[in-house]
Amino acid sequence: SELLRLLEEAGDDALQPGHSGQPNSSSDLPLESGKMKRKRAQTPLEKYDLNYLCVTDLSTQSWCEQQMVYGRELPQQQAPETVVLLNTGKSIHLARELEVHDVVKVHTTSKEDSWAIKILNLLSVIPVLQAGGCVRELPVFGIIEDVFLMGIIDELCYSAKGELELRELKTRGLPFMPSRAQKKKDYFQVCLYKYIFDAMVQGQLKPDVITSHIHLRPEQPLGSHIREHAQKVGFTVTCFGDLLELMYLNMTLSDIPSIDCLKIEYSHQESNTLLGTEVVQFEEEKVRERAQYYLAYWKGRREVQGVEIEEAWKCQSCSYSEICDWRRKRAEGPEQRSGPKKSK
Ligand code: SF4
Repeated sequence: SELLRLLEEAGDDALQPGHSGQPNSSSDLPLESGKMKRKRAQTPLEKYDLNYLCVTDLSTQSWCEQQMVYGRELPQQQAPETVVLLNTGKSIHLARELEVHDVVKVHTTSKEDSWAIKILNLLSVIPVLQAGGCVRELPVFGIIEDVFLMGIIDELCYSAKGELELRELKTRGLPFMPSRAQKKKDYFQVCLYKYIFDAMVQGQLKPDVITSHIHLRPEQPLGSHIREHAQKVGFTVTCFGDLLELMYLNMTLSDIPSIDCLKIEYSHQESNTLLGTEVVQFEEEKVRERAQYYLAYWKGRREVQGVEIEEAWKCQSCSYSEICDWRRKRAEGPEQRSGPKKSK
């Protein structure tokens, strides 16, 4: 049957907090119990009203955490050439995706409907993977350090050796391979995808974990458009919990293997030529440790960090170098800085 990817067209009541990037109003702050009624300091997750993070939030953080924070708070200050590069990259991804399936817009009326779209997109490609086919733009979810993560894998295919291979496409404005630091960020991104995908096929992501982290109601009836599309891909569902169960069962019982191989393809945007392919080694312990370190910031366990002196070259091409507190304090001397020394 025709392979479709669903794209959300949100109704008024589908607007969901959770990954809006909009700070909470301070009146939302929970109060501590006791006589003092003092306000507890917000963690960054609370401040930005997030109940999940994207894999790209963490990989961007690995380039410069301070830059990632400025990017969230002052997106309008990004250099225009960066915005053009990102938009062109998105168009190339969409064109590649349309080679293997059509994209259709589906009206949503609740935040459960929005998540149902992601789950249906995942459910619809499981048979393709089972049959040894190639899928693109595959949504994946997982938990690290009790934080919910979501990502979209560019491509999953079986290699000639029959191994399940993840391919990440990176388009570049410059006609040569990226620096070691840039590659390191990309390596981390694909390793995180493998980490959470493997946990899904191994049955570690239970339905109730998803609903409790994202604050979704399993009993919420799905909108008529969602039910219609679910029917088209062969699923009869009534409420959000039905879809979660189906996802859990399909991921764990369909014999999809863990990802065997991680590849990143770098290509030049303008000429559309392949610049090179990197094969990434997956070291689970190191990936977990790095994720823990970055998530410690989000959970309010440490202050935001900028780049260390040996990576100060990153500041030269940073859209926020003029206003960056970290850079200013670094110029004033190490004793001016607060927070522990960055160890990664
Ligand atoms: Fe990070 Fe340097 Fe940019 Fe500051 S100026 S945000 S430290 S890259």
